[in-house]
Amino acid sequence: MMVLRMSERTVFHRIRDREIPADIVYEDESILAFRDIRPKAATHLLFIPKRFVASVADVTAATAHLPGLLVLAAQKFAKERGIAGYKLVFHVGKDGGQEVMYLHLHFLSGQEL
Ligand code: AMP
Repeated sequence: MMVLRMSERTVFHRIRDREIPADIVYEDESILAFRDIRPKAATHLLFIPKRFVASVADVTAATAHLPGLLVLAAQKFAKERGIAGYKLVFHVGKDGGQEVMYLHLHFLSGQEL
């Protein structure tokens, strides 16, 4: 198991571990979702796996299921809320606009799309 030094833990580790507050909207055994603190759409959520992976660029055969689980959780959330259309985005790496190095799926819906 990968062991992270405290200094390497991201804000999403701290949300996952309930060390800092977040507006959590969805949780299952593998996934957590919460509202983005700087929303870019009427509904802007972030879905993260509870198991840490830094980025899509770091996904391996052992963790390739995690992006799929994020999509399934987003799909379930949308169905439960009656959200018919939405945008799902992965930023990959600093050059791809990724600021928080903890794998996350942006879920955006609303008129601003
Ligand atoms: P990315 O650019 O893909 O790494 O997106 C990171 C997102 O995390 C940004 O949209 C931020 O607004 C959001 N964010 C950063 N800190 C927090 C926080 N404490 N709670 C909720 N969202 C956050």
